[in-house]
Amino acid sequence: MVKIRIDYAKCDGTDKLCVEICPFSIFRDKKSAKPTVVNEKDCILCRTCQVNCPAQAIEISV
Ligand code: SF4
Repeated sequence: MVKIRIDYAKCDGTDKLCVEICPFSIFRDKKSAKPTVVNEKDCILCRTCQVNCPAQAIEISV
């Protein structure tokens, strides 16, 4: 099973690129807070979020 983790020590919550870029809405924007992972079971492991995160805060394991 795919496991997606946001390293909140790295994520500063400003860009929230993962929320916009994921084609399967795996991340949710909590407005004033940092993004959260909500639908990881739907992840197809494209790694677009991981590659594009400016803080390199997304960790994906299978
Ligand atoms: S790997 Fe792809 S499908 Fe999975 S969370 Fe990242 S952008 Fe979304």
